[in-house]
Amino acid sequence: MGNAKPRREDHSDGRTIDRIDTAPTFTEGDVAALNRQFADASTDEVLRAVLLDRVAGDVAVVSSFGAESAVLLHMIAAIDPATPVLFLDTGKHFPETLAYRDALAERLGLTRLITLTPDDALITKRDESGLRWSYDPDGCCDIRKVQPLAAAMAEFDGTITGRKGFQSATRAGLARFELDKSDAAGRIKVNPLANWPADRLAAYFAEHDLPAHPLVAQGYPSIGCMPCTSKVAAGEDPRSGRWRGWDKTECGIHVPGQDDGEFEPAF
Ligand code: SF4
Repeated sequence: MGNAKPRREDHSDGRTIDRIDTAPTFTEGDVAALNRQFADASTDEVLRAVLLDRVAGDVAVVSSFGAESAVLLHMIAAIDPATPVLFLDTGKHFPETLAYRDALAERLGLTRLITLTPDDALITKRDESGLRWSYDPDGCCDIRKVQPLAAAMAEFDGTITGRKGFQSATRAGLARFELDKSDAAGRIKVNPLANWPADRLAAYFAEHDLPAHPLVAQGYPSIGCMPCTSKVAAGEDPRSGRWRGWDKTECGIHVPGQDDGEFEPAF
C-alpha cells in the first residue's frame, strides 16, 4: 500500500525545521493593507518585503517549472536563493518539465527545491489505474496536488505564486496579495507578477538569458500535467490548453472567484 502520508523531499541542507503548526491568521484587512502599502512598489520591492522583511511570514514559492516560471524564480534567487521552492510532482508531468526543473534550479542556484509527491496509499485507493484525470480531473488534482500541498503548508504562513492577470479571464485583475482561502488557516498568497504583461516576461527572459521550457517552442504556452495539457492556437488564452474540453480552469491550489465564494479548483 505504500506510504501513509504525502512525502516531502527536501533537496536542501537537510536541516530539520522545528515548527509548531499554529494558524497564521492573516485577515482580509491585512491583505488590503498590504495591497495599499505596495500599490506603487516595484516587483523587486514586493519580493524583498516578502522574503527579507517577512511581511507575509514564512513563505514558500509554489512553482510548476512551467513556461514562465523562470522569471519569478530568477528574481527570487537574486534576493534569497535559499527560499523554499515547492514543486508538486503529480507523477503525470512531461519528462521535459522534470528535466527543466532540475536544470533551472541548478542554473539559478536555488538551494531549497522541495518536491512534494502524493500519498501512495491514496493513489492506490482512488486512482490505481492512473486514469482518474480522464473522468474526474478535480478528484485527480485533489489527490496529486491539493492534498500534498496542504500537508506541506503546515510549515508556512504563505505562498508566492507566478500567476499573472493576463493568463486567462479567470485571472484578470489578480491582486498582488490575496488571502488564501483553500483552508481556514489565514495564509497569504503573494502574486508578485500579477500585473506583468506577456511582453514584459519575454523581455525579462531575453535580458537575463533565461532558458525556456522546451515545450514552449512546440506550442505550449502553459504547461501542466501531460494528460491535461494541449497546444494552444493563436488568439486563444494562454491557459486554454489546460483541461481542454472540461469546465475547469484551475487545479484547486488557487481559487479564482474567491470573493463570491465560488470554488474553482490552479496551478
Ligand atoms: S492536472 Fe490532470 S493529471 Fe495533473 S493532477 Fe490534475 S487532473 Fe491529474
